[in-house]
Amino acid sequence: MTTHTTRMLILGSGPAGLTAAIYGARAGLKPILVQGIQPGGQLMTTTDVENYPGFADVIQGPWLMEQMQKQAEHVGTQLMYDTIVEVDVSQRPFRLIGDGGDVYEGDTLVIATGAQAKWLGLDSEEALKGKGVSACATCDGFFYRGKKVAVIGGGNTAVEEALYLTNHSPDVTIIHRRDHFRAEKILQDRLFAHKNVSVLWNKEVAEFVDGGGTAGLIALELRDTVTGERSRLDTDGGFVAIGHHPATELFRGHVELDEDHYIKVETGTTKTNVPGVFACGDVMDKHYRQAVTAAGSGCMAALDAERFLAAEDFKVAEAAE
Ligand code: NDP
Repeated sequence: MTTHTTRMLILGSGPAGLTAAIYGARAGLKPILVQGIQPGGQLMTTTDVENYPGFADVIQGPWLMEQMQKQAEHVGTQLMYDTIVEVDVSQRPFRLIGDGGDVYEGDTLVIATGAQAKWLGLDSEEALKGKGVSACATCDGFFYRGKKVAVIGGGNTAVEEALYLTNHSPDVTIIHRRDHFRAEKILQDRLFAHKNVSVLWNKEVAEFVDGGGTAGLIALELRDTVTGERSRLDTDGGFVAIGHHPATELFRGHVELDEDHYIKVETGTTKTNVPGVFACGDVMDKHYRQAVTAAGSGCMAALDAERFLAAEDFKVAEAAE
């Protein structure tokens, strides 16, 4: 068992955590970043990335994360591979404990553990991910210009994704398992008013249909949730928008969460309710969920942490005078 200590401890290695690390290292805080079970985060399972600024040509998600990781290391971040099983933020230094018994102590803690899209759990969905099935319209909608697409879900995300897809597609169908949405009324009004959108109520996806060869998704097989009747909807893209799980289990009861289990931060900052603990990226953001916004909030977390430490150092120096 080893104890690792740092001024700035970061948990999570997606764009938020790695950007916090780059800024923290360049501020001389010698960050330690614990990578967790999915190093690189959600971009590791993404192929083409066209919306991360700075790259004129399409880049690959895993390549982008590899570059961010190298950049964080080059400027002085220590990357650790461990699975954190316990946290103690009741006193400082904050402590994270790995499954092998290693202890990580930080004067500040940046939580960047991300979120995972929820999936329906069908084998055909898994087989067609990246071949017509997606959980992010903002990321992949552009690939369906002029094509038919379908969105599954009835919350704010589903309605927003359907509206976003109308920028690209003349034919968007939203499929919901009940006969009314839970999305906010203003979003629903906008959706119902849009000429490119139609709604299929009381339907769930029974299968994603593979066209074989390089065709990918060609249709959805639907089941009526009231009558059980089967039907088929031809489509080029299926966007699953049934919610996300923020990775906050470790922090339940330790850091304040909102009603959807996202970490609560003070508006306009990355400050949690525990002084010295900051949160950035998808673990605190249910609205934007983009690599670039995660990176932006990672930068904010590092600046917030650095200022927190500087204010504290100043108080100590003042008291010593
Ligand atoms: P929600 O949990 O609000 O909605 C999920 C939707 O998916 C529900 O309509 C649900 O159906 C449906 N669903 C869940 N599981 C399945 C399943 N297995 N099969 C079929 N349908 C399923 O998630 P959101 O991501 O939409 O929103 C999460 C939170 O983020 C909410 O608080 C939301 O308000 C917020 N948000 C706010 C935004 C904004 O303010 N602009 C933008 C995006 C999110 P059912 O209704 O039957 O339960």
